[in-house]
Amino acid sequence: MTDLPIREELRGKSPYGAPQLDVPVQLNTNENPYPLPEPLVERIAERVREAARGLNRYPDRDAIELRTELAAYLTRTAGHPVALANVWAANGSNEVIQQLLQTFGGPGRTAIGFEPSYSMHALISRGTGTGWISGPRNEDFTIDVAAAERAIAENRPDVVFITSPNNPTGTAVDAETVVALYEAAQAARPSLVVVDEAYVEFSHRPSLLPLIEGRPHMVISRTMSKAFGAAGLRLGYLAASPAVVDAVQLVRLPYHLSAVTQATALAALEHTDTLLGYVEQLKTERDRLVTELRAIGYEVTESDANFVQFGRFPDAHDAWRKILDRGVLVRDNGVPGWLRVTAGTAAENDAFLDAVRELKKESA
Ligand code: PMP
Repeated sequence: MTDLPIREELRGKSPYGAPQLDVPVQLNTNENPYPLPEPLVERIAERVREAARGLNRYPDRDAIELRTELAAYLTRTAGHPVALANVWAANGSNEVIQQLLQTFGGPGRTAIGFEPSYSMHALISRGTGTGWISGPRNEDFTIDVAAAERAIAENRPDVVFITSPNNPTGTAVDAETVVALYEAAQAARPSLVVVDEAYVEFSHRPSLLPLIEGRPHMVISRTMSKAFGAAGLRLGYLAASPAVVDAVQLVRLPYHLSAVTQATALAALEHTDTLLGYVEQLKTERDRLVTELRAIGYEVTESDANFVQFGRFPDAHDAWRKILDRGVLVRDNGVPGWLRVTAGTAAENDAFLDAVRELKKESA
């Protein structure tokens, strides 16, 4: 690649991606461990068959039926009425974020996030030519509001990312903090504030979505990859003011959401209640991981997501390797001293807990 005339800022960089290793227990990418229930698989096949009959035509470019159903889901679950005009969908929330950065970031502009956080915010910024500013967090991984406000005032970013619950720490952000940072961002620029709620269905707290009311520059980003157990589907969406939804149309590729994707997502939305039942089981497993890890003697960051950050290790990568040697793949996100484990099935979590119990004994 070194010989290619690629963009300077991409030279020498590595692509994003967790190792995809063939290991018995895979708890490294925050996936939902439950396969889709068989009646839903049947319904997907039905809807895709129907869509297949029309594949000679381009799909609904505006994904009207899908966005209407996503709006209904949000209205029902997030405690705030949301209409079709407030919702936009794309191939995973990564694409939603990319479209937002193409529209509101770009060359000569900057975005800020509070790290450690979801590393794709920085990487998609780079990919769209947007400058990246790394904002601070407290020792306990909560957002240091005063420091964040200062960073926003000094840097005047065009886009502000707030991830709640945060990946990889699991930390939720309270509504007062989001409002304070929104106000700081409006005073400084005004800028777009993107609240990434990829994991919110697993949270002990309600969604921050009602905050879009009266805040035209606030965006809530969501995904069907986690709570809907459909990471392979590639469906992300956002809720915001209709003006934001209109603005992203300027950069979206025509017909970006295939007819097959739209049909599959619609089928999954018909089975929301069953899928949210799995979320309840995963929340119980997540809480059990927190309790048992602490009982073993690990430090655990409070989690509102479907994963748990645990430590501390003198050498997190060495600990990661030793857990892998016991057949369990967790994630080393590069946060010094800490690793992250995704809540799996009860049996997978037991296997993980056995592995880290042994590791603790070995290092005692
Ligand atoms: N936001 C956060 C915080 C995430 O952790 C992830 C997935 N790891 C995403 C967005 C992207 O998810 P997807 O593109 O599958 O919707």
